[in-house]
Amino acid sequence: MVAIEAVRGDITEEHVDAVVTAANESLLGGGGVDGAVHRAAGPRLAQAGSAIGPCPPGDAMATPSFDLDPPVRHIVHTVGPVWEGGDQGEAEILASCYRHSLQVADELDVRSIAFPAIATGVHGFPADQAARIAVTTLRSTPTRIEQIRLVAFDHDTYEILAVALRR
Ligand code: ADP
Repeated sequence: MVAIEAVRGDITEEHVDAVVTAANESLLGGGGVDGAVHRAAGPRLAQAGSAIGPCPPGDAMATPSFDLDPPVRHIVHTVGPVWEGGDQGEAEILASCYRHSLQVADELDVRSIAFPAIATGVHGFPADQAARIAVTTLRSTPTRIEQIRLVAFDHDTYEILAVALRR
């Protein structure tokens, strides 16, 4: 069974096979976690993103990890929903991000993967609801991945993820 844990830190420093980034549709790079991932991976990441993008919300696409340190081999780009109050299908799109990211990673034979708190920054998705969706979706999606790390950049997000995992 897959082990899921919450950790606090910078996702670009994770020692996993694949890192997920909360991308925008162009896959050319953005702010927040996506900016950090693009800075760490170098300019070839935007080139690779532009070659496979755009990526619609709820979907996920993979590129190499370029300048990220081993063991990271892949970057999974997923596009979260923009929060518009909750009645625009945001929850289902967010669940789809987690589901599709796992599916893409499975196809690449990934055994360990790190996720940021997708959509809870600039996109404005309420963090507690997002954490419940993340945990529920990751637990219910069949996968060969053995280790999932939910990486919180700040203390509040870490606490919210830890609570969601204890449910
Ligand atoms: P979105 O546009 O999907 O809302 P953001 O990047 O704005 O994405 O925020 C998503 C989450 O990622 C937020 O909790 C933010 O604090 C966090 N974050 C920002 N930088 C990093 C990083 N380097 N590592 C991990 N998480 C990060």
